[in-house]
Amino acid sequence: MLLHMRLLVPAFVLLALLVLVACSTGEPSTIASTREPASTTITPTPSAQPTPSAEPTPRVTMAPVVLAPTASPTPVPIYHAPPYMVAIEAGHGGPNWFGAVGYDADGNRLIEKDLALDTALRLDELLREAGFETLVVRDGDFTLTPFASADYRPNMIAETQARVDLANAAQADVLVSIHFNGAVYSSLRGTETYYNPDRSFGAESYALAMFVQGELLGALAGLDHEVNDRGVRNDAEVGGDPDNAHSYLLGTNDGFSPSLMPGIISELLFLSNPEDAARAAEAETRQGLAEALRDGIAAYFAWLSQRVPPPTPAPAPVAAPPPAQCCSFSLW
Ligand SMILES: [Zn+2]
Repeated sequence: MLLHMRLLVPAFVLLALLVLVACSTGEPSTIASTREPASTTITPTPSAQPTPSAEPTPRVTMAPVVLAPTASPTPVPIYHAPPYMVAIEAGHGGPNWFGAVGYDADGNRLIEKDLALDTALRLDELLREAGFETLVVRDGDFTLTPFASADYRPNMIAETQARVDLANAAQADVLVSIHFNGAVYSSLRGTETYYNPDRSFGAESYALAMFVQGELLGALAGLDHEVNDRGVRNDAEVGGDPDNAHSYLLGTNDGFSPSLMPGIISELLFLSNPEDAARAAEAETRQGLAEALRDGIAAYFAWLSQRVPPPTPAPAPVAAPPPAQCCSFSLW
């Protein structure tokens, strides 16, 4: 579809490329490639439903401050016993970083940063109910860094670095970024999830992306929405810079202190498509998508625990028998 349009309307190609998926990684974007993701083969298994815990685990709240980049580039250990921490990053935010914009059926404006935040907060609650720890990188309509000037790119990089630094400082186990998509052509619609295969934990990121994408599609089908699977994709497809092809959020770009854990960027629906936008505007849909994100995340950790069984605990030492008591006399 995209290639076909490129041929038919060459005058709009550059504009389309610049806008398509412009929100996805928070970077000026182009579709650099249509190649498939790396050929890692991981077959998702049906997700394990999380078992609600009696008490929600605490949520780590972060003030809008800037931390120094993490000193150590050592990735967060992949395998360890629960609980697991999920860093939730609601895309965009603040007065100057809106992301995609669309309209619902009544002509009301839909702004990506607002819908992403709403979905992120729903996901936060669901994950804590399921026993996960969470770090909500942005829990309000703000940015962590000044984002005031029109110089978009350095602002975006600095803001993304601040968000990655928070996830790294918290030693989160996974980083989940929530976005809604936008394109010049309103016919473009659907759901896609990005990951970075070129990290030491690329296989884990791919698995997380596959689990989440599958759950998202299932949730939309369950809501009677016409599903368009745009797939699990390499984030280098939208980077736009040959020297820094990957997204800053998931990548290893020059001059950037990268995230230290598996991560994904989920583009839930296209706000520029009337049918997708109408569904994104519904709280029921966003709740369903948040539940799908939770289920995909839970399935990832269930898969991880089966992939490398935890070591068998050493047998507990046999307790020595208590010394004989000589108090039975009083009982007789
Ligand atoms: Zn976005």
